[in-house]
Amino acid sequence: MSAPLSPAPTAPITQDVLTLPRKLPEGGKTNLVGLTRDQLRDALIAAGTPERQAKMRVGQVWQWIYHWGVRDFAQMTNLAKDYRALLAENFVVEVPEVVNRQISADGTRKYLVRIAGGHEVEVVYIPEETRGTLCISSQVGCTLTCSFCHTGTQKLVRNLTAGEIVGQVMLARDDLNEWPVPGAPKDETRLISNVVLMGMGEPLYNFENVRDAMKVVMDGEGISLSRRRITLSTSGIVPEIARAAEEIGCLLAVSFHATTDEVRDKLVPVNKKWNIKTLLDTLREYPRLSNSERITFEYVMLKDVNDSDADARRLVKLIAGIPAKINLIPFNEWPGAPYVRSDWERIEVFADILYKAGYASPIRTPRGEDIMAACGQLKSATERARKSRAEIAAEAGL
Ligand code: SAH
Ligand code: SF4
Repeated sequence: MSAPLSPAPTAPITQDVLTLPRKLPEGGKTNLVGLTRDQLRDALIAAGTPERQAKMRVGQVWQWIYHWGVRDFAQMTNLAKDYRALLAENFVVEVPEVVNRQISADGTRKYLVRIAGGHEVEVVYIPEETRGTLCISSQVGCTLTCSFCHTGTQKLVRNLTAGEIVGQVMLARDDLNEWPVPGAPKDETRLISNVVLMGMGEPLYNFENVRDAMKVVMDGEGISLSRRRITLSTSGIVPEIARAAEEIGCLLAVSFHATTDEVRDKLVPVNKKWNIKTLLDTLREYPRLSNSERITFEYVMLKDVNDSDADARRLVKLIAGIPAKINLIPFNEWPGAPYVRSDWERIEVFADILYKAGYASPIRTPRGEDIMAACGQLKSATERARKSRAEIAAEAGL
């Protein structure tokens, strides 16, 4: 079953964000969110914290921000009043602002989030029975131009800062009310149990910020998500792949999508730089590869493009020897997309060939389609608005 081209939204897909006041970064004050422990230490010392106290202060402030979710220095009650004042004079604890939240009929939540400079990115929360996955963005737009991806059609691109990346996790925790309550019994259930870097952008083209942000998210004194619950998805930026294992240590997903260079060149143009063989050689060397930490091969199902039995068999041959699972993603259509989703029976036959060859091959259930929150549908609202106005003008013969 393929999705309608223009799904009837349960809430407006875009909001006239251009009319909202644009908030500029607060002048002069450093945002503490997203700083590594070392950077936080340096910042506190530069603001006048005595060096001998620095380690303790870092621990305290860190816990307030990332364990308790406190944004206001006045609430950091184990700090002396004058120290709180000093912090407030020099710093802010700020997360990006949610300018629109939509909730799908299936419970998926999509947040349109505004970052400094008035840019926008999208964040998606996907509740499932046994886990809750937060899909976060690493860039505004994407410099790569995968032909099936809505984000890839967005012109405006900028890297997110580490703070803007961590901030996405924090604002989702705010919305889900997931910060611990002081004095209440410890609640081990996690609404956000997994984080996937599968939103807008190519995370390995913003390596340092993504790394620093994930270090903060994994830190045991704060949000404390295990590295095995974080998955970074890349289109195949070969020189950075091993670094991801070494410096972040999270799980890896690769947007594979095709079994010949000819087709992959068209779908994932970065293939022209690092082709299938180069990519697979690099994956074979992935430092963290094991049966318990398999690489996920993502494979978008595009009707008559990459979904034949021969493709399935080639895929099995290509990845032989790599501990892997294959995630089949039914194509999520977007207005003007040049492809169509493969028929459901075709996807099942494809999955079956992979399964019989020994691979787990789950078909990813499209989530949040009614609010354009599914994989590859993210594109910031201002960009969409801009495009649709241009289209309207064209239609009117202007
Ligand atoms: N830039 C990274 C991560 C973001 S995209 C990457 O490309 O891996 C997350 C996944 O969604 C990728 O596998 C991507 O190829 C896939 N995707 C993009 N557009 C899609 C669409 N319209 N339908 C289904 N999957 C899509
Ligand atoms: Fe960028 Fe990933 Fe979309 Fe390709 S699929 S354009 S790499 S976000």
